[in-house]
Amino acid sequence: MSTIREISRDTRISVVLPAFNESAILSDLYRIVIDILEKLNVTYEMIFINDGSTDNSGEILDEIAKKDPNVIVIHLSRNFGHQPALQAGLEYATGNAVIVMDADMQDNPETIPQFLKEWQKGYDIVYAVRVNRKENILKRFFFNAFYRLLKFISDTKIPLNAGNFGLIDRKVCKQIISFHEHDRYYPGLRSWVGFKQKGIEIDRGARYDDATRVGLIGLFKLAKAAIISFSSFPLTIFLFFGIIALIMFLGLSILTLYHKFFLGIASPGWASFLITVSFFGAINALGIGILGEYVIRIYSEVRQRPLFLVERCSNDPKERTKSKTCPENNMTK
Ligand code: UDP
Ligand code: MG
Repeated sequence: MSTIREISRDTRISVVLPAFNESAILSDLYRIVIDILEKLNVTYEMIFINDGSTDNSGEILDEIAKKDPNVIVIHLSRNFGHQPALQAGLEYATGNAVIVMDADMQDNPETIPQFLKEWQKGYDIVYAVRVNRKENILKRFFFNAFYRLLKFISDTKIPLNAGNFGLIDRKVCKQIISFHEHDRYYPGLRSWVGFKQKGIEIDRGARYDDATRVGLIGLFKLAKAAIISFSSFPLTIFLFFGIIALIMFLGLSILTLYHKFFLGIASPGWASFLITVSFFGAINALGIGILGEYVIRIYSEVRQRPLFLVERCSNDPKERTKSKTCPENNMTK
């Protein structure tokens, strides 16, 4: 593709960075990202989302924002989790292109110019495909299994090994923030919107402190959100199980009746009875469990609870034209 979008001083780039207890790395991260953005000769903003950090991440970010008007810090009122924090950042982003990255140095900031090159060529979404993950073998195994399963069962074509790290055009950002679903899986939503997409392969670094903030339970919930919001497979499989169960039931009935009326042999023993009963019991329980997952989601969507609450913000672009501080009515979004 030839160049479609020119990059100049008028081009505005937003970098969105959700951070939860990352105080050890924030100053370095800021410096590295700013160096890269400065070299690009564009206008930019760095949007940090302080997702209810309990260390001094908030103070560090405020210090940075005090010195640099291009830094916006959104302090959420508590820890809402990575995906809602990301959504908060996207809602504040004003750039022509919006880059999403983690604040733990796992996403190499050096990739930003590569994203922009593809965006200039006309791609609306450029995402990082992770190769050579530096995480431990068990985590790598689960990530691989998850991405493959998702690809197999998903109704949307979600690329393998593509996480949050990537660039989206302004129009894509507008679309994604307009989605009202609560249980969000950003890489899935980004694939779902369509437009011109491109994956570029990058090495995924190790976390600077080896202590994941999302955690295993968080990853499990994210995987569940991805599978249930982008696939109806868990429900469909029960139709399949149901049909098999029906066939087995018919087979067993015929066998029992045949024994009773034609052979006159006594009914089979307890074992087969118990196996059959427990088999159907298990099917019922699992079916109800999966239905429950959907009901929970319907309930959550119907409630329309805000995805996040902003407690205060520094250098809020929405407020620049008005007063310097966040007004009360910014508390709910
Ligand atoms: N994060 C967040 N809120 C949370 C958990 C994580 O904003 O409740 C941020 C975290 O600071 C990091 C990014 O989300 O910048 C990814 O988190 P983590 O590195 O723990 O996830 P992993 O890379 O292990 O998937
Ligand atoms: Mg990480």
